[in-house]
Amino acid sequence: MLYVSNKIKNLPEYVFSEFQRQKEALQEKGIDVIDLGIGAPDLPTPSFIYDVLAQEAKKQASHRYSPFNGSYEFRSAVADFYKKQFDVDLDPDTEVLTLIGSKEGIVHFIQAVINEGDKVIIPDPGYPAYQMGVQLAGGQNVLLPLDTNKGFVPRYDLLSEADKKQAKLMFLNYPNNPTASTVEINTYKEAISFVKKHKIILAHDAAYQLVTFGEYKSPSVLQVQDAKKYAVEFGSLSKSFNMTGWRIGYVVGNKEMIQALANLKSNIDTSQFLPIQKAAAAAMRSDLKAVAENNLIFQSRMEKLQKALEELGIESEKPKGSIFIWAKVPVGYSSSSFANKLLEEAGIMVTPGTAFGLGGEGYIRISLSVAEERLDEVIRRLRRLSSKEAP
Ligand SMILES: *Cc1c(COP(=O)(O)O)cnc(C)c1O
Repeated sequence: MLYVSNKIKNLPEYVFSEFQRQKEALQEKGIDVIDLGIGAPDLPTPSFIYDVLAQEAKKQASHRYSPFNGSYEFRSAVADFYKKQFDVDLDPDTEVLTLIGSKEGIVHFIQAVINEGDKVIIPDPGYPAYQMGVQLAGGQNVLLPLDTNKGFVPRYDLLSEADKKQAKLMFLNYPNNPTASTVEINTYKEAISFVKKHKIILAHDAAYQLVTFGEYKSPSVLQVQDAKKYAVEFGSLSKSFNMTGWRIGYVVGNKEMIQALANLKSNIDTSQFLPIQKAAAAAMRSDLKAVAENNLIFQSRMEKLQKALEELGIESEKPKGSIFIWAKVPVGYSSSSFANKLLEEAGIMVTPGTAFGLGGEGYIRISLSVAEERLDEVIRRLRRLSSKEAP
């Protein structure tokens, strides 16, 4: 491997690229694979958003470089959204930064705030970009166990004194990927007290903040008093507005941390295409009706599948948000053996919990990213599989 740096040699490929290949191999054999593996909504971007893109793309002024930290229009739309949604005040110039999707921002943020060898606390199981981002930055991952009996909240008590003392940064993520758990503001109050006590930066990944069901509303970590002293929060339009391919997100909160990230990014990229930022600003300033409509679709899929799983003896908590069901594998299986069985014997692709860390052993993550008719087919296939096994 003459042309590959040590850093990249030691970096495994992003887990989902591997699953993608597995799926394509089966499809080539003519198998009708139902993909409940990928964590991306299947629904279209609302038309009022792409109408803005289409109009703006025609204007010559839109074809120039964006300001490095993103357009004022988008940043102020994010600030106004925080005011309206959470009653949190943000300065669009210093406390909001445009990202080319939140994954980009998260991975670069780690490099912007830690030094080589620094410890970073990441939830286990958790979104894979945290762990890889820490590795890329030369940091050390410290795994934070989540409470499987109490809604997957952090178990700070299971961290060693040395880890708590040495950690520089901690990630949390609610509504959570992969466990689909949601929290109330108390969880963030505890997190802020924890990071304050141990002098740790808190990075909250709120990619699913608006993807919630029924009466439940997901709070912001910045609603906690003094949170801006210790924390940033990452947001994304990918899941809430079905804009995964557009690559647009933001980070808000602590000025100094945001400035560090802006500094790093200004040496790497020149923010996002202006018409995309305009369209995203329109989304953030909207009445969120489109989001509510999508949420109803995800909720209805979730309820249908969750009920069917329950009848088949596959246990899961009923989620209040996210686009996932986090289900226990039946006795006698590991995460990967059960995921493989579903793929090979039923053509259903799910993600083994261990793709998100060893803390995901015993679970699979099921994405609600297919239409109800396809979910009906999933349920038929699962019933067939389970009746084959009945004694
Ligand atoms: C999808 C996802 C992201 C990344 O979203 P972007 O498309 O990069 O904005 C970040 N965090 C979590 C937990 C996600 O599931």
